[in-house]
Amino acid sequence: MFKALLECLFGTPSKDEESSSPATVQTNTRSVQAPASPKRKLTFNPDTITSDAIDGAFEHLGLLIPSVKPSIEAAIYRCMAEGFKAVALSHRKDGEQLSKEEKKAFGIRSNAFMSKRAASELSEKGTLKPLEAHYLTLWRADFTIDRAKRILTASGHEFGRISQLGAHRDGCAFCTENYDSYIDPFTASPFPPAECPNAACGMMYHASVDWVAVHKSRC
Ligand SMILES: [Zn+2]
Repeated sequence: MFKALLECLFGTPSKDEESSSPATVQTNTRSVQAPASPKRKLTFNPDTITSDAIDGAFEHLGLLIPSVKPSIEAAIYRCMAEGFKAVALSHRKDGEQLSKEEKKAFGIRSNAFMSKRAASELSEKGTLKPLEAHYLTLWRADFTIDRAKRILTASGHEFGRISQLGAHRDGCAFCTENYDSYIDPFTASPFPPAECPNAACGMMYHASVDWVAVHKSRC
């Protein structure tokens, strides 16, 4: 019987040693009930999250004019492979550049890249941060989309859970409070928390499965 218990508990590798934390117990309780209860809803719409994340970044930062959303939508898919800073740089680099005088008027150095098109996409607020406007917008939206993907992954499993990673808490009270704790994927939001003081919250989510809870539920 003891052997059976061991096999039951350890027959499949446990992916996380922290599964006995109080937050996990809470997750387990909720997850055990999940199959019998109605389908739970996520805090966001997975079908429109890319568009919603970009809208959120535009609204919160206000650095780009809303009509350039399609150009950010086209660029966001490159961020994962190239990084949002490189994507923003290539956007500013492509096409006819501002003259030296025009760059001076923007307060940017003469050897910085700034295409006429990229300059025309800046809002009034964005003209105060011409070299950062695109990459901060991409960064904020890209991290939101990435968090949404992790939430979606975790929510697809009966014992799925989200833990928060990210070394750059940078004065964010939510990040500090929730760092290294488990979050229910159905209550987790992919959007940066309201209290985050940063242009783009560095919070990252990690999706995992509480395998010990899975085995206990099947014993
Ligand atoms: Zn934050």
